[in-house]
Amino acid sequence: MLGWLLRLLLLFLLVRALMLIVGGLIRGLIGAAQVPGEPRQGTGAGSVARSHGTLVQDPVCGTYILQERALAMKTAGGTAFFCSERCRSAYDAQAARSR
Ligand SMILES: [Zn+2]
Repeated sequence: MLGWLLRLLLLFLLVRALMLIVGGLIRGLIGAAQVPGEPRQGTGAGSVARSHGTLVQDPVCGTYILQERALAMKTAGGTAFFCSERCRSAYDAQAARSR
């Protein structure tokens, strides 16, 4: 009796593991097929990872930019980030004037 139960339990676990693997494969296939259509909807984890970049403020024009896209410059008070080369040189000129 106990042996049957154990075997049943093992079979149940085996089936569950198989379902998980197959389910994951199917989800992966569906996800891959959906990517060109709607990349932001459905896969919540993906969009979270994408929008996880830090926002930094340009001290010259006040624009918020993603840190990975911003132009960085070492300053006395740390690192400043700029939206464009124009803002960076403007900041540089201002810093040179106040020096
Ligand atoms: Zn700017």
